Amino acid sequence: MHKVGLFWFHTDLRVVDNPALVQASQEVDRLICIYCLPPISHGRKSPNSLSDHRLQFLQESLIGLDSSLRTLGQQLDVIYAPALETIAQLITRHDIGAIYGTSSADYGVNEVWKLLRDRYPLITFSQISGGSLISSLQLPFPVDELPDSFSKFRRKVEPIEISEPLIAPDSLPRRPANATASEWLRLFPAFMPNPSPLFSGGEHNGIEHLQGYFAKDLASSYKTTRNGLDGMDYSTKFSPWLANGNLSPRTVMKALKGYEQFVEKNDSTYWIYFELLWRDYFQYYALKYGVRLFSFSGIKQHKPGTSFYAERYQKWCQGNTPYPIVNACMKQLNSSGYLSNRGRQLVASCFVHELNLDWRYGAAYLEQQLIDYDVASNWGNWQYLAGVGADPRGHRQFDLAKQTKIYDPDNLFIHKWDGENCSSVLDSVDAADWPILDTVTAAKI
Ligand SMILES: Cc1cc2nc3c(=O)[nH]c(=O)nc-3n(C[C@H](O)[C@H](O)[C@H](O)COP(=O)(O)OP(=O)(O)OC[C@H]3O[C@@H](n4cnc5c(N)ncnc54)[C@H](O)[C@@H]3O)c2cc1C
Repeated sequence: MHKVGLFWFHTDLRVVDNPALVQASQEVDRLICIYCLPPISHGRKSPNSLSDHRLQFLQESLIGLDSSLRTLGQQLDVIYAPALETIAQLITRHDIGAIYGTSSADYGVNEVWKLLRDRYPLITFSQISGGSLISSLQLPFPVDELPDSFSKFRRKVEPIEISEPLIAPDSLPRRPANATASEWLRLFPAFMPNPSPLFSGGEHNGIEHLQGYFAKDLASSYKTTRNGLDGMDYSTKFSPWLANGNLSPRTVMKALKGYEQFVEKNDSTYWIYFELLWRDYFQYYALKYGVRLFSFSGIKQHKPGTSFYAERYQKWCQGNTPYPIVNACMKQLNSSGYLSNRGRQLVASCFVHELNLDWRYGAAYLEQQLIDYDVASNWGNWQYLAGVGADPRGHRQFDLAKQTKIYDPDNLFIHKWDGENCSSVLDSVDAADWPILDTVTAAKI
């Protein structure tokens, strides 16, 4: 009797430096590899819809993973149903004895693992660290005792040696004879493809981008350029591949160390590592706080004084606010699925502090749009900006006029993205100064 294993891919869409996949390759005789994409409603109206940019990058990542798996004797099946019911059906159908996956900061994913563990005590579950620079086993404190600020976290983890990435397994156990993969590519949700996207998904493209970045001398000046608003070279642009797991942070770190050894080591190269530690901080922050990552009061005891105003929200999404720099950023995001770190800070600060909107709606909009959407980094950074997260300063309100002078002194970015073509009115009122409640008409004003 063969032991059958199941590998549940999530945000680890790669075969290189995938410790859980290596373990599965050593422990079972037959293996089924799946990715679950629950039915999503397409279009901007629904809270669980994904933008065309996200769908395109995800599809490319899945095609890339499938082709890597095929070279190892396996293949991927994408199932358009929620993970819990999908896995439960596969357990019954194929007598699964072991389930593997990469540790995740995603509360929803961890809830599924918990339910499966409770429901199937005879199955072996292996959720193995692989998505962060520093694994949970290397942390010098339990996750529950994660320091309350990034600086304290950084001081504790900086002495830790980052492990080398693992190579891909030589081969993988075959699928059971009675498990045929579906025609998932044909059934993939429809989207309007972008013929010249900024980024193309998949492990192969991620490695190519990583090597291309370090083949130039960009890393040597990263610290001084990283606040740019437009272009490919001012920051690393590793995030889309990191967020989808096409690249592991340890693979990035290995390339960074190589650059430091053979080209140059300076403040800027250190700062790339520093930013990757921010990413790790938010992963553990999400794990520690669980569902509070999404709650209005965040990790604080009090609720912010903001609310939801449909017209303001729509205007912000469309880039039609009285703030040209914010409009330019939102139009850039809508047209490409990417926004600079500076741009994200400005649009989030505007959302919360100028428009007085409930930060969760802003976070949910970026979740739909960003190619590099990462649950921990997105919701964690929004909490920080909204004053309900891990910020010792309380909250971050940016002076948008001052920021424009510093980062777009000649208004080139604003002109390029048509940020000045906007409404000067935030809330529509009728002749008697009453709010116009028809938000569709009002948003066009
Ligand atoms: C409101 C808001 C929402 C955000 N949402 C996301 C998100 O969904 N996904 C995401 O990956 N990042 C998010 N970020 C963090 C950051 O803006 C992006 O990681 C960065 O802009 C990606 O571009 P890059 O790869 O060129 O970054 P670089 O500046 O080159 O940084 C290198 C890497 O460090 C990590 N990093 C950098 N800054 C941060 C940060 N503040 N928090 C966490 N990790 C960081 C990323 O993995 C990034 O790829 C958000 C920031 C804000 C303010």
